Amino acid sequence: MLRLLLATCLGLVPAAATAADRLPNVVLIFTDDQGYGDLGCYGATGFATPHVDKLAEQGVRFTDFHVSQPVCSASRASLMTGCYANRIGIHGALSPAARHGISAAETTLAEVCKGRGYATGMVGKWHLGHHPQFLPTRHGFDSYLGLPYSNDMWPFHPQAKGGYPNLPLIDGEKVTNPNVTAKDQARLTGLYTKRAVAFIAENKDKPFFLYVAHSMPHVPLFAGDGFGGKAKQGLYGDVIQEIDASVGAVLAALDAHKVADNTLVIFTSDNGPWLSYGNHGGSSGGLREGKGTVWEGGVRVPFVARWPGKIPAGSVCREPAMTIDVLPTVAAAIGAKAPALPIDGKDIGPLLRGEPGAKCPHEAYFHYYGTNELQAVRSGKWKLVFPHAYRTMDGQPEGKDGTPGKYRVVKIESQMLFDLDADVGEAKDVAAANPGVVKRLEELADAARADLGDALAKKVGKGTREPGRLPPEK
Ligand code: MG
Repeated sequence: MLRLLLATCLGLVPAAATAADRLPNVVLIFTDDQGYGDLGCYGATGFATPHVDKLAEQGVRFTDFHVSQPVCSASRASLMTGCYANRIGIHGALSPAARHGISAAETTLAEVCKGRGYATGMVGKWHLGHHPQFLPTRHGFDSYLGLPYSNDMWPFHPQAKGGYPNLPLIDGEKVTNPNVTAKDQARLTGLYTKRAVAFIAENKDKPFFLYVAHSMPHVPLFAGDGFGGKAKQGLYGDVIQEIDASVGAVLAALDAHKVADNTLVIFTSDNGPWLSYGNHGGSSGGLREGKGTVWEGGVRVPFVARWPGKIPAGSVCREPAMTIDVLPTVAAAIGAKAPALPIDGKDIGPLLRGEPGAKCPHEAYFHYYGTNELQAVRSGKWKLVFPHAYRTMDGQPEGKDGTPGKYRVVKIESQMLFDLDADVGEAKDVAAANPGVVKRLEELADAARADLGDALAKKVGKGTREPGRLPPEK
């Protein structure tokens, strides 16, 4: 034994790569427009999510996890780069006419993993630029199968007004289906799942990073074979149940290949529910408003993570955290180098692992929306909301069965302060009673404005970077 140990130390016998000393795999599952209240473990009724609920039982569930911005592309930019989306020039939701995308100068989570020798694969919705130089395969992913942007950016959209071109399905960098139909949409979740499971089988013997970005439950909703007509809540519930079954299939693949114990699995969503779609939109679980607003219903999302032996089973984290923290957390967990350019996120490993006394590593988080408007700042339990215009369905006729209702726009004329510990529904403005808190949060916001700019305050930031752009059209 001693001789073997000596020989191993001298490099004469290669050390066996056991699960314990191998770099952990990372599986990141990201859904689209799934609200804070749209999982069983977050109080959903009318449909069941047993696989995600089990993931939470075996890991940690965050109650105060946020996206940086309540809209598709901006939210994804933060998840993929660890930056506020406006830092890297990505705002809103990129349309099929967009001629920009994620810059080659940015470092994605896939590139962070690649730097440590990981196999990297993605299935699903990218939405960080659909031209070849912006695709996942040019930003650290070995393989890709999915839609380049939202599934409603297609000619059949009720509000398309002749606007959208045919919706392509892309495999690698090749369009394998130039005109996704309703039938194809119904097969999307199943297609993504099959490819995700195959990726795990192909890469089980080396460290891998798998990003599963479901196109659903973003409207238009379609359920696959065997999933339609099952949930009491209706089609939205059917779609969520199919996503949950997909999570189950991915977890079963990790088990079958005996890599579950060495895999960090994360499940979260890109923004809150699209409320104008009524019964085809999700639920904020009682939070104020939804997608497209910086109220909690727009930016607070479910977040569940499992990592056997590292994350205590059945734990709940009530500290604030954000998608910008995912990249630095994974980088720390796998011993990867930080991106070359400055990023905004921080390692929340201590929160994931439930270390005693672990606190959110940020003094503040900033919620931008629209064209670089700093609409809210969050620090500890306090949230300061700045005067701005937002959309609401309050008092409006509801959308139904795929046809949206019409938002009305509301203006906030003066800043409002909320104590989210006492008032998670943001019903009571306590600014007048807490002038010191308002002042401190205003100072934090001023620092963000100097760095990232703010269209509401007409400030240009010094720390923003350009997105990638196609050359001008001739
Ligand atoms: Mg979305």
